[in-house]
Amino acid sequence: MPDFAHARERMVDIQLARRGIGDRHVLDAMRRVPREAFVESGFEEFAYEDTPLPIGEGQTISQPYIVALMMEAAEVKPGENVLEVGAGSGYAAAALSQIAGRVYAIERHAALGEAATRRFQKLGYRNIDLRVGDGTKGWPEAAPFDAILVSAGGPSAPQALKNQLDVGGRLVIPVGKEAGGQRLLKITRESGTVFTEEDLGGVMFVPLIGEQGWAEGNGRIAAKRTSGHASERSLPNMIAAAAEPLPDFEDPAFGAMFDRFAERRVVLLGEASHGTSEFYRARAAITRHLIERHGFTIVAVEADWPDAAVVDRHVRHRSARPDAEPPFQRFPTWMWRNLDVAAFIDWMHRHNEAIAPPDRAGFYGLDIYNMSGSIAAVLDYLDKIDPDAAAVARERYGCLTPWQKEPSTYGRAVLTSGYRKCENAVVEQCRDLFSKRLDYMARDGTDFLDAAQNARLIASAERYYRIMYYGGAESWNLRDTHMFETLEHLLESGGPESKAIVWAHNSHIGDARYTEMGFVREELNIGQLCRQRYGDAAALIGFGTHEGVAAASDWDADMEVKQVRPSHEDSYERLCHDSGEPRFLLDLNRDEALRQRLLERRLERFIGVIYRPETELMSHYADASLPQQFDAFVWFDQTAAVTPLGPEHAKPGMPETYPFGL
Ligand code: SAM
Repeated sequence: MPDFAHARERMVDIQLARRGIGDRHVLDAMRRVPREAFVESGFEEFAYEDTPLPIGEGQTISQPYIVALMMEAAEVKPGENVLEVGAGSGYAAAALSQIAGRVYAIERHAALGEAATRRFQKLGYRNIDLRVGDGTKGWPEAAPFDAILVSAGGPSAPQALKNQLDVGGRLVIPVGKEAGGQRLLKITRESGTVFTEEDLGGVMFVPLIGEQGWAEGNGRIAAKRTSGHASERSLPNMIAAAAEPLPDFEDPAFGAMFDRFAERRVVLLGEASHGTSEFYRARAAITRHLIERHGFTIVAVEADWPDAAVVDRHVRHRSARPDAEPPFQRFPTWMWRNLDVAAFIDWMHRHNEAIAPPDRAGFYGLDIYNMSGSIAAVLDYLDKIDPDAAAVARERYGCLTPWQKEPSTYGRAVLTSGYRKCENAVVEQCRDLFSKRLDYMARDGTDFLDAAQNARLIASAERYYRIMYYGGAESWNLRDTHMFETLEHLLESGGPESKAIVWAHNSHIGDARYTEMGFVREELNIGQLCRQRYGDAAALIGFGTHEGVAAASDWDADMEVKQVRPSHEDSYERLCHDSGEPRFLLDLNRDEALRQRLLERRLERFIGVIYRPETELMSHYADASLPQQFDAFVWFDQTAAVTPLGPEHAKPGMPETYPFGL
């Protein structure tokens, strides 16, 4: 059972107060009303997410922020007489009832109105009257109102509602003539005949249907704060004009389009899903070019270190570790065991052949999940180089043995049975290894770096699994900080001239400060840390698509080729799609007018290894400011799923596990 009280507190602090809601009455009201009691059954666990949620009849409960924003704009004060039009689940009316003297609420769908009334009774909200009907006509018998909130978007502010405002009264209503969203207006009645109007920004609501609203049949579904632009029809055209069409992946001109980033120390290449072939092929083409022409030698990817180390030995023509397990066996295997990655690894192997060993390009993993692989690698290394130290390490790591296969259960064990001692053991082991650095390095520097990184990883992973149990941003931040530090170690050990290319999901490489990750959840990521550390010497390049992906429906489930829904009408992806250009590079720093137009936040789609089309808006979209998140955006309108490697891809004369059993 989720801790709803805690989630509610967090929602108020992070989604409301930090975004600028300052009215104490509003914040207190939002702290008191249990949103989980107002969402459709089955959605309770999402109740405190920063998003609208379904409530039945094709309608939604508004995003908490928008409810608070409207209440604050309406300046609702204790004891006042308030009307809400579009009561839906009753959530906003319940929040209003915590401040106002009396709340009148109108809902046009009888089933929703009845359910809301039952909730009010159950939760003990006695100062709300709800009726089913057309709210555009208001509630004349209960007028005048000090405040009227309309929770659905109309073509204009209904005259009946304006007439039912008291002098000094405020009407807050989304108004818009186009299908793309509305402007949130605050209309104040200054006198019997004078009304003033204030524009509070762009929003997206379900339509207000009624005599003074839209006609029945105008049925879009959504209710979320949007970027909102008064006239945005030209934006796709501006994108089309700025878009630089991308040639074929195999055409050298493809990589050459990224020459503008050649002088950067770090070029980070994203992806909008872990299962899209075009993202892998594009990143491979860019990486080949940067390695061949511009001296990049580090390819650091969102894969586990010990697994990537197996590939690294292969591409740098070093002998394989005899007992190393075949790499990339952890879910989702298709992320690295796919045809596009295999082709790229082949290329690295061939490219390095003609190059002196110290100058060869390497393939490294930044991620921390394969703790057992790292333990095996450290023990292997010490067995060879220092058997006494290996015996001590074996004992220390033994502490973690029960959880090596299922490390996610380790956090609970720490809580219940004092396994905290593992923490000291792994840290001491790491320290010991580094204290013998000079001695070990003298024998084989590359092997030492590998073992040292594995020892660091085990210490990070121990901590990661311990804090993962508590949830929240801390475990994400630890993981991304570890990935960033690994990148730094690679750059340091490569010397001051070394340059790196990172392959990771957009959520890791787009600057988190300009997405919901940062401004709502306090999460950071590699992209942000690179900008903070390297400034303009880091290039953050995001990737996007309109349709097409490989993903699973649940964790540990099989890979499926899934059809991605067309991008949301309020997303950056939709703007790119509407540009009509099928594949392009958009340099976000070249056209200042376009940059300015794109700055205001919109939705952006994030698909990892799981894709859930049924709850897409909640599960996969987040607010972001694209030109601040990335330096450039690579667009493929139509995309295809990756092809996982199977036995049929073995090459004659090569071991069956080729190319990943290297
Ligand atoms: N405030 C609601 C809540 O907290 O759950 C969310 C409202 S939902 C975004 C908008 C609601 O307005 C829908 O339930 C819809 O049926 C209702 N609606 C649309 N037109 C209406 C009208 N003319 N009169 C009353 N309700 C209307």
